[in-house]
Amino acid sequence: MKNSINLIRLLLFSFAFIQTVFAQQITSPKEHFGFNIGDDYQLATFTETEQYFKKLDQQSDRLLYTVIGKTEEGRDQCMLIISSPENLKNLEEFKNISTKLAHADLSEAEARDLAQKGKSIVWIDGGLHSNEVVGTHQLIQTAYLLASSNDLETKKILENSIVLMVHANPDGQELISNWYMREKTPNKRSGNYVPVLYQKYAGHDNNRDFFMLNLKESQNMARQLFVEWIPQIMYNHHQTAPAGAVVAGAPYRDPFNYVFDPILMSGIDALGAAMSSRLNAEGKPGYTAKDGSVFSTWYNGGLRTTTYFHNMMGLLTEMIGNPTPFEIPLVPNRLIPNNDTQNPVIPQVWHFQQSIDYSVSLNYAVLNYASRYKDEVLYNMFRMGKNSIERGSKDFWPLSPSKVAVIDTAFQQAKRKDPKIENNREAERKLLGSLFDNKSLRDPRGFIIPADQADFVKATDFVNALIQNGIDIQQANADFTVNGKKYVKGSYIIKTDQAFRPHILDMFEPQDHPDDFQYPGGPPIPPYDAAGWTLAYLMDVKFDRILDDFNGPFQDLTNGKVIQLAEVAKPKGKYLRLPATINESFRVSNDLLKQGKNVWRDESNGDIYVENNANVKLIFDAEASNSLPKQSKKIKTLRIALWDTYGGSMPSGWLRFLMEKYHYNFDVIYAPDIDKGNLNAKYDIIIFPGNSIPRFNSNANASSYYGRMPAEAPENIPSPYKERWGRLTEQKSIPVLKAFLENGGKIVTIGSSSDLAEHLELGVENHLVDAQHKALRRTDFYTPGSVLTAKVAKGIASTWGYNDQIDLYYSNDNLYRITNNNIKPLMWFDSEKVLKSGWSWGQKYLKDGVIAFEAPVGKGKLVSFGNDINFRAQTHGTFKLLFNQLQ
Ligand SMILES: [Zn+2]
Repeated sequence: MKNSINLIRLLLFSFAFIQTVFAQQITSPKEHFGFNIGDDYQLATFTETEQYFKKLDQQSDRLLYTVIGKTEEGRDQCMLIISSPENLKNLEEFKNISTKLAHADLSEAEARDLAQKGKSIVWIDGGLHSNEVVGTHQLIQTAYLLASSNDLETKKILENSIVLMVHANPDGQELISNWYMREKTPNKRSGNYVPVLYQKYAGHDNNRDFFMLNLKESQNMARQLFVEWIPQIMYNHHQTAPAGAVVAGAPYRDPFNYVFDPILMSGIDALGAAMSSRLNAEGKPGYTAKDGSVFSTWYNGGLRTTTYFHNMMGLLTEMIGNPTPFEIPLVPNRLIPNNDTQNPVIPQVWHFQQSIDYSVSLNYAVLNYASRYKDEVLYNMFRMGKNSIERGSKDFWPLSPSKVAVIDTAFQQAKRKDPKIENNREAERKLLGSLFDNKSLRDPRGFIIPADQADFVKATDFVNALIQNGIDIQQANADFTVNGKKYVKGSYIIKTDQAFRPHILDMFEPQDHPDDFQYPGGPPIPPYDAAGWTLAYLMDVKFDRILDDFNGPFQDLTNGKVIQLAEVAKPKGKYLRLPATINESFRVSNDLLKQGKNVWRDESNGDIYVENNANVKLIFDAEASNSLPKQSKKIKTLRIALWDTYGGSMPSGWLRFLMEKYHYNFDVIYAPDIDKGNLNAKYDIIIFPGNSIPRFNSNANASSYYGRMPAEAPENIPSPYKERWGRLTEQKSIPVLKAFLENGGKIVTIGSSSDLAEHLELGVENHLVDAQHKALRRTDFYTPGSVLTAKVAKGIASTWGYNDQIDLYYSNDNLYRITNNNIKPLMWFDSEKVLKSGWSWGQKYLKDGVIAFEAPVGKGKLVSFGNDINFRAQTHGTFKLLFNQLQ
């Protein structure tokens, strides 16, 4: 026994010895891929990259290859954990310190102590947007350098920090690199005309999914970011920079999101300075920040931006770079140094290698900062979390535009009464009471989501999005009363006295976007993405805001563990009623239709009836009956087609995602399929998402029609993609669609594709016009992505399952006035104040505008939604508007 222990010791010793001696034997990218990362005309595929990462894992004691989940196409999504060999032995301990500090349920002294003991955790990702090829390739090069370099800086980084290097989109790298490399002659290689989206459903929108977490890759990354590790710093690589710059980065322009902790913003400033300073010191010009680019910190939902709502210092750079060399354009006003662009770049030919070198420098700048200021970075994470807990435990008034306007209004009124007030500081201070003494304007201490609401399955989907974002949820294990209102057992409670309070407020409360103009009276400055997105509104989740502290029989749910609703017992009776108010009813009925079972709809209210037997699996309580309602009608499976295009359309991809999720059978069809005609032989209904129908000339944004393509497909495009080439045209496609309608087909148009009604001259006109019937200018009316409240027509099949009001996502969309009595409005704005969350300049112009309608065309019907009722598959509140059309 003793001998064998000695033998093991000896073996272990020799193993350690061998490892030390051969620690430098790390395969270089050139040895593995056959080219240097950054060589002209060379891209690595994911398969090759994955093999390389596994090789590094075997060869280096500084690097662990881990898999964080499967991608949508079934690949392994990998995360490399890189640190000193000593740190890697104690990963659990450092992970614990990181998450404890992030949750901030500690005393000041404990936090100081843990900040000393811990290691800063830094996330660096690459390749989220796969055609931005610098991103994936800097990941490979940086991993190699961290695994192989022995300079003092690298050693310090490995000693003080743990680096999480995450591949953000393996499927996309495989697609894009194979597409580029398919041409054997290097200088003929091109990334143009990639045939499909580089994320199966979302393409570029894969960076808009992080509060909703529809996609597997987003779920995998959110788990590491918000539950497992909770890094203090994350760095999200993108492409490309504004013309005339090399890279755009931190800090970012206004607006500032008012739920953030100020430490977050000053921390981003410091990191931005570390990044630009390093480039300046290394003689790498062309960094631009703040107003030098369009990127702001307003939006939640990006891989980078969602981290802000969790107190993480999120960094994004947008870098130029392509394996095919190109030239930086001349933009004279970028050549004058200023605080945004301290070191302008002179226009020149640019090689891929330069972009890789810049990226590595920027990664090292961030890692160096994280290593040198490790204690501070860790402590500040705690401080922000603790501040959140404190703000959620007392009366707290945020300083957002609408709240400060309360003080300003009081100030203006007081000045009118007494102009001398401006010299009276005490009187001025009293005016602050207009906000701070107004208890109704406080932030809520928490939210209650009642379990007895119409669609509790959907409410649970919402709660699951919060859980995957690391939010602590409680559930009532008995009935209870708060502020005199009774709530049933099973209701969810979300308190705001937790570290990620900014995210909670953001998901339940309106976004209070400022009026943001280039100059007073000038054009609006578009937000980088949406202006408002309050998820509880978009999902139509019923909840109560509770402004005072409250308690009850509340049980903590496990952090990070999603809720799986269990199958419920069914009541006795021949039929089951699946209410039209519940999204899940449609999934159940689709499953039964696929099995060839009978399904009916009650034509008085849209409720779905099915036979009560073992085939029916329910996760919500349904009523049973022994007979069908008088007005019930058996429904049949419709032959559904969904438009898509060569290259892939994101709105179409999101619809594909939604329809698969709700178990619809459908075909995806392309312009050439449509142009062949005779569509009634194949389909009962065709869905046209935004940007599929050519814009109608009189519309203000007519130029935004989908990117132009040459008439003929280039020769080197293979099947089956070649057969998808082309766009719908006014000359050829519109008459085919007209014939489809006239022969009894149904068309659903969404977003800008509602222009079809105008092509067909059905009798609708643009509502957003001035007294001279000219389209409103942006200085008069501007409503970027926001949540608005609309009126809903009742007693019509298209709106079954809805009350008379609805919250919808609206983004400068078509709005109509109807001039033909045969057209039925489905949704419209009935007031001058319909903004619920976000920004609407000149919202009075929306009043009486019709956003959705249905129109008979021959024997068929056109159903038109001006807004996106399936925006990024986030708007669960408006999904049923589509489902009602598909049965
Ligand atoms: Zn990008």
